[in-house]
Amino acid sequence: MKAYRGIVLHFTGDPAADPANARLLDDGALVVTDEGLVDRVTPWAELPGRLRDEAVQDYRDDLILPGFVDAHVHSGQIDAIASPGGDLRDWLERHVYPAERRFADEEYARQAAGDFLDRLLAAGTTTACVHTTTFASSTGAFFAAAHERDLRMVAGKVLMDAGGHAEGGPVPDDYLDPSVQQAEQDCRELIDAWHGKGRCLYAITPRFGPTSTLELLRMAGRLFQEYADRGQPVWAQSHLAETKDEVDTVLERFAALTPRSYLDVYDKCGLVGPRSVWAHCLWPDDVYRTSAGGGQDWQVLKARQAGVAFCPTSNLFLGSGLFPLERTRRAGVRVGLGTDVGAGTSFSMLETMNEAYKVMALQGDHLPALRGFYLATRGGAEALCLEDRIGGFQPGGEADFVVLDFAATPVLERRTGTAGDLVERLFALAMLGDERAVKATYVMGRRTWENT
Ligand SMILES: [Zn+2]
Repeated sequence: MKAYRGIVLHFTGDPAADPANARLLDDGALVVTDEGLVDRVTPWAELPGRLRDEAVQDYRDDLILPGFVDAHVHSGQIDAIASPGGDLRDWLERHVYPAERRFADEEYARQAAGDFLDRLLAAGTTTACVHTTTFASSTGAFFAAAHERDLRMVAGKVLMDAGGHAEGGPVPDDYLDPSVQQAEQDCRELIDAWHGKGRCLYAITPRFGPTSTLELLRMAGRLFQEYADRGQPVWAQSHLAETKDEVDTVLERFAALTPRSYLDVYDKCGLVGPRSVWAHCLWPDDVYRTSAGGGQDWQVLKARQAGVAFCPTSNLFLGSGLFPLERTRRAGVRVGLGTDVGAGTSFSMLETMNEAYKVMALQGDHLPALRGFYLATRGGAEALCLEDRIGGFQPGGEADFVVLDFAATPVLERRTGTAGDLVERLFALAMLGDERAVKATYVMGRRTWENT
């Protein structure tokens, strides 16, 4: 056993639903077993004497928080971050596809995967839902690097077989899957090799509607269902309604399905269910191309226990739209925060919370500090259907946590030093913090990254 003394914050659910879901101890202890699992969280004063005699790490002035969960990010875009572009389509064509194509080189893919995961750890992120690239070898390299670091990662090979230059689309033809059969075989081999190995989890990952044929999406949905049916459930992830142009393209491309909405295309292919994670969802059927029977997207996501990733830095960078967080709260949809690097401009979930606050402000809404920290930890775990294992400090859970420094920079030190109470200090940390505020990151109770 080892005890970590500090200001401890974690959640048992959404504090917007019940304020008691936020557990905040101004002088607490997180106790971790030798196996790297959470034993308990307790006020320091109530920690039994025998545990105080065990090894104690003193973080008394710091915040101990479950490791951040990044609900949507692209490892294959580490070198596309901060690339100027126009809208989504232009940015993908000019920067993303060329950047991802470099992952054909296995040595480059191996090095980039390791560096990507180290950037996550430096930001205090211990779990992420990751799109790699179209090359199966790059997905294997990603899982090898995650396994080496013992990280709980959900990831998949990007599937795409449409939208190539040959058909007048933006994707280089040699960056598409050569066939649906080959793509399926790649997925099966990667699942066999990595799903459930250590803490690695596989996600079926069609990039999005505009780069998919119906045959590809149906194959993806069939795999998703097949592994669930055989008691070996895998995850699924994609982008959903990020721009109006994308929605138009998808409704036209899949007109044969007579879809009710963009989401309905994925749903009709069997991809929407528990353990499916949908990035963006800025233009659902209650705000764009609403037709008879419209307004059902949130109900379907809620009913299927699907998760949605709110990616504010990306949505602002590409000018895609403002995420309706209040709408999702009312609908009871599982929502996590995503950085969406490379369209996102930071690996830091603190910076992502800062931008999420502003996206809410632009809509006349308010994102309280505690709810921001919830979305960045437990909310992400719920979106991924992993809340029984990560994202909180429930006994028996995996002890992934981050130690945050309220005085990491002169501005932070001054502002948090004059704050009226702890919640005000937390808000300042979310608005002013970034990687510099991460003092240490622990994975399964082991210190894996330290700010020196
Ligand atoms: Zn994305």
